[in-house]
Amino acid sequence: MSASLERGIHAFKEAIDGPVASFFSSCVHCGLCAHACLFYTETGDPKYTPIHKLEPLRRVWKQEYTFWGRYARAFGLSKPVTDEELGEWETLVYDSCTMCGRCSMVCPVGNDIAYMIRRTREGMAAAGHAPEGLIGASRRAVTIGSPMGVKLPALEAQIRHLEQEAGLTIPVDLEGADYMCLLSSMEIMNFPEYIGAIARIFKQANVSWTISSEAFEATNSGIQIGVSEIAAELVQRVVDAAEKLQVKAVISPECGHAYMAIRWEGPNLIGKPFSFQVMHIMEVLDQLREEGRLKTTGKEKQRLTYHDPCQIARRGGVLEQPRNLLNIVAEDFVEMPEAGKMNWCCGAGGGVSANERADELRLRVFNRKKSQLDAVRAEGLVTACSNCRIYLEEGLEEYHMDIPVTGLTETIAEHLVEEGEGGER
Ligand code: SF4
Ligand code: SF4
Repeated sequence: MSASLERGIHAFKEAIDGPVASFFSSCVHCGLCAHACLFYTETGDPKYTPIHKLEPLRRVWKQEYTFWGRYARAFGLSKPVTDEELGEWETLVYDSCTMCGRCSMVCPVGNDIAYMIRRTREGMAAAGHAPEGLIGASRRAVTIGSPMGVKLPALEAQIRHLEQEAGLTIPVDLEGADYMCLLSSMEIMNFPEYIGAIARIFKQANVSWTISSEAFEATNSGIQIGVSEIAAELVQRVVDAAEKLQVKAVISPECGHAYMAIRWEGPNLIGKPFSFQVMHIMEVLDQLREEGRLKTTGKEKQRLTYHDPCQIARRGGVLEQPRNLLNIVAEDFVEMPEAGKMNWCCGAGGGVSANERADELRLRVFNRKKSQLDAVRAEGLVTACSNCRIYLEEGLEEYHMDIPVTGLTETIAEHLVEEGEGGER
């Protein structure tokens, strides 16, 4: 057995915790999870059945942790997992799963397949079977602090530009601020208007906030590739910065998996509770709305619909807040079929977007999003995740659909009441 395979099998064994073992032993092989996964529904290929993607982990569980599995292995009746098999499974584990969690919602015995995929990636990465794109992103996240290689001077340049444009100050390293805002590299490079939008909204609502120059990146490539040590290190950087600035809460930006990583996985990864609260930007904005501190005027006239990012809605429970917010700025807001907790993924989450090899499959399964959009004849699409936004735009272009995509925070900021104006709520 090669050293990398040995490391991989060891990582698989480590990844099989109580929940994973009980999920495998409870599976009744009903196949319902297949019909919840867009990689299966849009291709009809049984290899994309969610539970099938976990086969290497299932085999290690069976051979190592079940009586009959050990018995069969001892008598040479079952073969150990080989490096070739892991190589064959690499695309199933990384290219055809966005860890969207939709399959977990329909499993009659409650198997959290998205969690099991993440555990499977631990073994795959340790065995050297992770996609190049994710390896590069994780390396840059550790060494540079951003999966896209965005350094502090790039953020500072965007901040200076936004400050000049909007005539306001964007606070950096403000000790004792109430909120510390994280950003995704995509927001810094592709959608800096998000930073301008929060600055304008927070100024109007008189919110005390800051960005940390030491930990501004929200995305966590360690979770996507399946290396817990990297994931923990990236979370720890945020924790250190938040503690240094003594903030009351950290705000996760318009990025789905960043929210899941810091809010739900973060304390488990570093092994202790946070001394601060974690909120998604939608939760903060909706709280401001409730308190009467978010004053808007006018409404979007075109038919708008909302794409629920999987990690924010289904896995994160932030369902009502974006709808409350959209309803104050949209005259004709319509829900897509299966919107909310059963929404269909954009196809690019869970590291799929960082994995070029998966591009063709990702665009093929976008057909599901097309059907959802066609059903409501949407004229505009709003979302709360910059990763979704980029790949929704790409999918729409591929399918020749002329539907503009915007971020919800910016949409709100566009309707802010200017100083001296009355406004309506
Ligand atoms: S988590 Fe989502 S993409 Fe992954 S197998 Fe389940 S339904 Fe498919
Ligand atoms: S839905 Fe659940 S029980 Fe049915 S095959 Fe999938 S994982 Fe197994």
